Amino acid sequence: MRTAVFSTKPYDREFLQPAAKATGHELIFLEPRLTPQTVVLAQGFPAICSFVNDPLPPAILQTLADGGTRFVVLRCAGFNQVDLEACRKLGVRVARVPAYSPYAVAEHAVGMMLTLNRKFHKAFNRVREGNFAIDGLLGFDMHGKTVGVVGTGKIGAIAAGILKGFGCEILLYDVIENEACRALGRYVALNELFAASEIITLHCPLTPETQHLIDKAAIERMKRGVMLINTSRGALVDTQAVLASLKSGQLGYLGLDVYEEEADLFFEDHSSHVIQDDTFMRLLTFPNVLITSHQAFFTRTALEEIARVTMANLTAFERGERVANEVLPPSK
Ligand code: NAD
Repeated sequence: MRTAVFSTKPYDREFLQPAAKATGHELIFLEPRLTPQTVVLAQGFPAICSFVNDPLPPAILQTLADGGTRFVVLRCAGFNQVDLEACRKLGVRVARVPAYSPYAVAEHAVGMMLTLNRKFHKAFNRVREGNFAIDGLLGFDMHGKTVGVVGTGKIGAIAAGILKGFGCEILLYDVIENEACRALGRYVALNELFAASEIITLHCPLTPETQHLIDKAAIERMKRGVMLINTSRGALVDTQAVLASLKSGQLGYLGLDVYEEEADLFFEDHSSHVIQDDTFMRLLTFPNVLITSHQAFFTRTALEEIARVTMANLTAFERGERVANEVLPPSK
């Protein structure tokens, strides 16, 4: 199927092209993000493929539909960028890659915990400069610490399992409890998880209910010096509240792979630009903040799976078969 691939990076091409060749799909790779200005590039394509920060509000969907696009394949799991109600009205169908490698994200989250705790990033630089002093690198044993896992779906469950292996006490919170997680920890109310955890890791989707789940009130309920890890979606965390609590010391460590305003920053090289986002730049000044640019998913395993499932989504749609990974609009 002829598909316009937005936000193409070299690694997308490397993994998508062979998968497309093997399945008979024709991909046209476009480097720009999907925006009101670039959406015209999709004119005449029955399908488009977009990525995690490509917005699909009603206006963009309308232009896509007017240009003949009937199918959007998201090469990511989250579909918070898509206005599903507009899709329903316009007859545009959407599919995603629900789980390309939950291990990749869970392992990255745990990696962030270890880095913040044991300060590998500082040690790496020190040793390379011939500085073998270890003052300032003091960490804590993960063993015996209480870790709160918010969202116990595919990624949260794996993170809980890894942390259980470290000998952590696991507290779990989800709106739908995962039977398989009961052997790993104890489900508690969200406020109890906030109050009792030394480390909190977020693995729930961004929805109207979870927007700013971590706000000033939530942080005030947490233990002083708590570590917060967010590898899910930036807007789960109120960045201004987090900034204030880092300054006061209430928040002891912060690991972010996602950021509320990441769309204009992440996945691009801004190293020779003046970054205009003062909030983001302030975050970078804290010694106890670690930010990665939405790379938790970024493993070979995950990219192969994204390519395979994206092609399977296109094939099913093209053949008029049931699209197993279709994202359905909420029922009325
Ligand atoms: P999943 O659907 O398997 O699990 C999500 C869990 O969150 C479900 O159990 C669901 O019941 C729960 N949930 C929903 N609303 C909740 C609420 N209000 N409070 C608590 N829990 C709630 O999804 P997953 O594959 O585990 O992915 C989790 C999130 O990770 C995704 O939504 C996505 O935003 C993020 N993600 C990030 C990356 C990355 O590279 N950083 C990659 C993939 C996914």
